[in-house]
Amino acid sequence: MASTQFKPDDAYRDSISTVDAAGKRVWLYPKKPAGRLYRARKWLSYGFLAVLFAGPWLRLNGLPLLMLNLPAQKFIILGQIFWPQDFFILLLATLTFLVFIILFTVVYGRVFCGWVCPQTIFLEMVFRRIEYWLEGDAPQQKALDRRELDWDKLWRKTTKHVLFLAVSFLIANTFLAYIIGSDALVAIVTDPLTAHLGGLAAMVGFTGVFYAVFARFREQVCTIVCPYGRLQGVLLDQDSLGGGL
Ligand code: SF4
Repeated sequence: MASTQFKPDDAYRDSISTVDAAGKRVWLYPKKPAGRLYRARKWLSYGFLAVLFAGPWLRLNGLPLLMLNLPAQKFIILGQIFWPQDFFILLLATLTFLVFIILFTVVYGRVFCGWVCPQTIFLEMVFRRIEYWLEGDAPQQKALDRRELDWDKLWRKTTKHVLFLAVSFLIANTFLAYIIGSDALVAIVTDPLTAHLGGLAAMVGFTGVFYAVFARFREQVCTIVCPYGRLQGVLLDQDSLGGGL
């Protein structure tokens, strides 16, 4: 096994590149990716997005594929209903999954983060691609942000944020459908607004959260919020895939 001792050139691990010496956020302008692996990731993400958005509408045994209704304490996984008294099964499945994730990460590093995580898929394959489309590659984006506000900048920024809000609204609706079920979601959309004020508030709230995450918070989710991201510091070593980078 390779040595995991601290080396002088490991000093970069003491700080993160998205925060400057004064503790202020450094906004990232990643270069537009290209190449064989990126094309493969794109196709895989199209598949995941299709499954994710179709999920709440698909039925197995007349029940949704996945519904995690926390308020009603009713959980449906692959067309099977689980009640709180069945929780030991879910607990066992969760523990097994956790052990699998830990072992998988030790060997394969951040493969999950790069290829499968919904945060990556939405940020890199949806929101950033809207940004590249409207604002160009990294140098053009930087130049646009530094420029005084003019008509060109105004319409590009406005269109981008309107599209960001529209996609966030779609994600929020899908997320809500995974919690309350697609039938309840349809009722919120089609019934008079006053009949489902709670559902409407959840819809607006989730839209705001997703918009804030993908328009502003972005990669900070991985370094600050995601427990899996925080755990990686102790799961990866020089022998993990990409661990020596
Ligand atoms: S650290 Fe967490 S949020 Fe970030 S890509 Fe990995 S799993 Fe996703």
